[in-house]
Amino acid sequence: MAQATLDFSIEPHSNLVADDVRASLLADPGFGRVFTDHMVTIRHSIDKGWHDAKVTARAPIPMDPAASVLHYAQEIFEGMKAYRLADGSTALFRPEENARRFRESAVRMAMPELPEDLFLKSVRRIVEIDRDWIPASEGGALYLRPFMFASEVFLGVRPAHEYLYVVIASSVGAYFKGGAKAISIWVSQDYSRAAPGGTGAAKCGGNYAASLVAQAQATEKGCDQVAFLDAAERRWVEELGGMNLFFVFEDGTIVTPPLTGTILPGITRDSILTLARDQGLDVREEPYSFEDWRADAESGRLLETFACGTAAVVTPVGTVRFAGGEFEIGSGQAGQLTERMRQALTSIQRGVAPDPYSWVKRLS
Ligand SMILES: *Cc1c(COP(=O)(O)O)cnc(C)c1O
Repeated sequence: MAQATLDFSIEPHSNLVADDVRASLLADPGFGRVFTDHMVTIRHSIDKGWHDAKVTARAPIPMDPAASVLHYAQEIFEGMKAYRLADGSTALFRPEENARRFRESAVRMAMPELPEDLFLKSVRRIVEIDRDWIPASEGGALYLRPFMFASEVFLGVRPAHEYLYVVIASSVGAYFKGGAKAISIWVSQDYSRAAPGGTGAAKCGGNYAASLVAQAQATEKGCDQVAFLDAAERRWVEELGGMNLFFVFEDGTIVTPPLTGTILPGITRDSILTLARDQGLDVREEPYSFEDWRADAESGRLLETFACGTAAVVTPVGTVRFAGGEFEIGSGQAGQLTERMRQALTSIQRGVAPDPYSWVKRLS
């Protein structure tokens, strides 16, 4: 396919951020507020298909007020990290999975599918040119944000005819301040994130927009994150606003909710399933009710709960709060298996443990 071999024109920034300024930004980058010098853009139109692939200085995107995305929210994104390995080289973690998921999100949102090798090329290009932005600190990485939106100037309601694909990169430290400290969760019993037949399995901005009022409520209740229940019965625990959930039981069983279309198929989730199965653990993808979560935590049958995703990797859940009260998970601190999974995964990602699945893709 001609499009898949599209070449990128490279127009480097003429005024790079100075080394000392960058060093001070990287000392404590936080999450999502320090950006690199460059971006990648690729356009799509019905007539030309994918075209005009570029690496340029990061800059504002001129937009017409009638650009379709501003009205009907045809937008999808990905989130992935480039790491510095122990030997100084840079690497991506399972980037083909992000490429595939981006294509699947596009299909759900009636958007054109970016060929997977073009997606992979685009993320490699930005890491190559902005690799000096990877923080040296523990937990530091270059967070890559590929996204695509309807750029056509048209108010009619139909899939747009023009799209802009962009990759930006942000230097990040550990996602939750204080590393793997246990977080508190607010269980939303009146807002839903995703419904059967909806867009819950697509990584689209709209899902996040719909989750924000519940997240704000969680914050108001003194919690770090919100957990959503299924929309149909308000009974089954699904996931957080941007992370999947795992439950660890006394008998050694591990449970995570199944991918039925309302849950985002996390790559971290899949990696943990693989690691846990290969460690001989009894892993089940099956529904788990809020009622059981509470009862099992109180009886001690449930030992641990953790959340996982690219941004925070693996994060223990310590306290669960809801309209009728609250309960603690285990001791309220990070549990043993949570810690073991976090170690196992981050060690592979950082190139300090063997990588039997070839998950780590070195760039240079
Ligand atoms: C991105 C995301 C996740 C985590 O996916 P990873 O591939 O592990 O980063 C989980 N839930 C939602 C809603 C997400 O958007």
